[in-house]
Amino acid sequence: MTPPSSTPLPEPASELFSLRGRRALITGSGQGIGFTLARGLAAAGAELVLNDIDPVRLEQAVATLKQEGFPVTGRCFDVTKSAEIDAALAEVGPLNILINNAGIHRRAPLESMPLEAWQAVLDVNLTSAFLVTRAVVPGMIRRRAGKIINLCSLNCEVSRPTIANYAAAKGGLKMLTRAMAVEWGKHNIQANGLGPGYIRTAMTGTLTVDPEFDRFIRARTPAGRWGEPKELVGTAVFLSSRAADFVNGQILYVDGGLLAAL
Ligand code: NAP
Repeated sequence: MTPPSSTPLPEPASELFSLRGRRALITGSGQGIGFTLARGLAAAGAELVLNDIDPVRLEQAVATLKQEGFPVTGRCFDVTKSAEIDAALAEVGPLNILINNAGIHRRAPLESMPLEAWQAVLDVNLTSAFLVTRAVVPGMIRRRAGKIINLCSLNCEVSRPTIANYAAAKGGLKMLTRAMAVEWGKHNIQANGLGPGYIRTAMTGTLTVDPEFDRFIRARTPAGRWGEPKELVGTAVFLSSRAADFVNGQILYVDGGLLAAL
């Protein structure tokens, strides 16, 4: 064993977690969690490429972060369309970090769920991560470095009525994350999942104003409250940074303790 006196000093946290010199693409980052993660990664030093399906929302998000002094560009594309993704990313330059964040809900009882609702949720929440990562990863493999973060969910582990499509997609995303880790670990690429609990965004807007659901979440979550998008930033920065160089194939839940409670 190496004697303690000759082991190198640990790097200061400011260096270990710094994203200076890194370029990150975050899908669906025109608002909500993706936008907040973009701001957080930019504050940690990264250059950001934002994406959204809505060009106006994307333009506003890019303008906001530019005004705050961050180096940001935007690429408008639909994460479910392979040709659009490839065209949009062709001239984006090397990407060190990819956050597959775009997601949707289409709630319906399973026995009467339209195929369109099933397919749309699978496409945006699961297939998109395959398509966007497939477009980005060859550069990471060539450079022998890359961080991939997939926005998972408590529904990787547990379900609720009317969200079978979402639970199936997020459960699949958990295993896609592990498959990425297993296949690309040899290229020094780390793929991990970030699993938020119930977070206040447009996606959960109808739920936060539903008194019964709000009561249920507060009672069910050991923290006794909803989470805010900014509470996910630390985990995203960690998983994007050199501090996570040996963390691979994990799903890190940031949920106020919900998954731990029965
Ligand atoms: P959000 O506020 O609805 O933001 C998602 C963004 O992605 C929206 O701007 C959305 O546009 C965009 N988008 C949808 N389809 C797209 C496509 N095909 N191509 C490109 N962009 C697309 O949602 P959020 O709450 O921030 O959620 C972000 C991620 O976290 C999702 O993967 C979600 O499943 C996950 N998550 C959220 C929570 C939560 O409590 N909020 C909990 C667990 C996991 P439109 O609005 O036009 O659809």
